This record gives sequence, C-alpha cells and structure tokens, in this order.
Amino acid sequence: ILEVTDLEVAFGGTPVLHRITFSMRRGERVAIVGQSGSGKSTAIGAILRLLPGSGRITHGSIVLGAGRTRGDVEDLATATEPVLRTIRGQRVALVPQDPMSNLNPAMKIGPQVADAILASLRGEARPDRAEVRRRAVALLSEAGIPDADRRYGQYPHEFSGGMRQRVLIAIALAGEPELLIADEPTSALDVTVQRQILNHLQSLVDARGTSLLFITHDLGLAADRTDRIIVMSEGSIVEVGTPRQILLHPQEEYTQRLVAAAP
Ligand code: ATP
Ligand code: MG
Repeated sequence: ILEVTDLEVAFGGTPVLHRITFSMRRGERVAIVGQSGSGKSTAIGAILRLLPGSGRITHGSIVLGAGRTRGDVEDLATATEPVLRTIRGQRVALVPQDPMSNLNPAMKIGPQVADAILASLRGEARPDRAEVRRRAVALLSEAGIPDADRRYGQYPHEFSGGMRQRVLIAIALAGEPELLIADEPTSALDVTVQRQILNHLQSLVDARGTSLLFITHDLGLAADRTDRIIVMSEGSIVEVGTPRQILLHPQEEYTQRLVAAAP
C-alpha cells in the first residue's frame, strides 16, 4: 500500500533523512522505532506532504496504493494539491502526537468529528444533519468515548488527555483510511492509559483491515502491536525485522543497545 524509495528530506539544505527505503503491504502493521530526533516525524511528514517550515523532499519517491490497478497509484511526490487533499482526507489519516494542538479548542467535540465525516465524503450525496450527527456519535463511541451522545456537545478542555486522544482516533477513522499513521499517539499519557488506547486502536484497525504505520520511541510498545519493526537512527534505517528478530536477534549494534535499554 506504501512504497518509499530513496527518500531524502532536507530542512533548509541540511539533509535529515538519508535515502530511506521501505514498503508496507496492505493490512500490514509496521512500526518505526527510533530515539528522539532520528527522523520519524519527518518521514511521515513527507508521506503526508505536511513537512513543517523549510522541510523539502530532495530525492526519491513515495507511492501510495502500489500493487493495485494502475489508475489507483498516486505518486505523492508529483501529486497536485487537490489530489493530496483526497489522499489526506480519505486514504491516509494521521493520529497526531499532541491532541491539544490538533483539536480546535473553540469548537465542540462532536462537530469536529462531523466536519471530518463531511470532509471525507466521496461522490455520495451529503447526508442530512441528523445522519451526520448519528455517524459522529457512533464513531466517538467506537473510539471508546463513553456516553458519546451527551459528550458530543462538550469542548476539548472538558475531556481528559486520554479522551482527547480517542477523539483524534475517531476523527482519523472518519475518512475510512486505508492507511492509518499514528505518531507517538499516546506519549503524553500515563502507561496504563497508553496501553488501553493502543489496544483499542489496534482492535479498530484489525477489524477494518486498515494498514497501520505506528511511530514510537518505545520498542516494547512497538513489538506488542506490529508485524514488522523499522529501526531508525540519525535519519537512516538501521535495521528491519519482525518483533521477534529485533528483540531476540538484533543484528546491528545500535539495535542491540536499543533492546538492552528497553524496559
Ligand atoms: P521525536 O521522537 O522527538 O518526535 P523524531 O524522530 O520524530 O523525534 P524529527 O522530528 O523527524 O525526529 O526530527 C529529525 C531531525 O530533523 C532533527 O534533527 C530535527 O532537528 C530536524 N527537524 C525537524 N523538524 C524541523 C524543522 N521544522 N526545522 C528544522 N529542522 C527540523
Ligand atoms: Mg516525532
């Protein structure tokens, strides 16, 4: 579903990703693991075409939907803006790192989910307000928000950190993405809540057959939840393997140190 080849990204002329190559099969769950600053967010920023500031793709290609019929293949590196919006809204969705800066503090929770549903409508006729609300409540409740019908009218500040993260999961799923990218989606939360939310996220993507690209610095979290782990350091891919291979038989010295340091 995703094929990244020789991807190089630079900020203001300084390369921070050094020709990384990896791919994901449809339905696969892949983790990118690496220490802070290793380039994880930059890699997914490039995939989503959301690189901050002076970030530019300076080499390589990103193909989404590879392996399907030719008409479905979209090369993001050459895609034009309307195509990208389609890609962002419908085929690839992001559960971002920080819920507070990714929800509108001045807007009630429910309408933010409803907007995501409306933004992701493909050719179908626009459903009426009651139907959109019904779908938004269903999504919130599926994402694990108790009493979602009542909480529809509350503001982000009335939600706990964990509940806000669940709202972002509901928003990401609104577009029925084929690929869901989660960038350290729970790093701000305590460990128990993190695990609960990640388990929940995993059951949602498994039930839908959604491909998952899970970004984390926590090797343990990655190993429990994915089919394959990509280890990154200083903008390069160091090693790729199944969780078993990485945890039990790490080949590279960097990975060995990472495994030794994992709790
Ligand atoms: P973390 O685990 O802390 O989120 P990360 O692996 O996601 O780290 P990135 O945010 O991708 O790391 O950063 C990779 C490199 O790119 C770092 O050296 C960082 O300084 C640089 N970088 C990231 N964003 C910018 C930016 N907006 N402008 C300039 N350099 C940046
Ligand atoms: Mg990051």
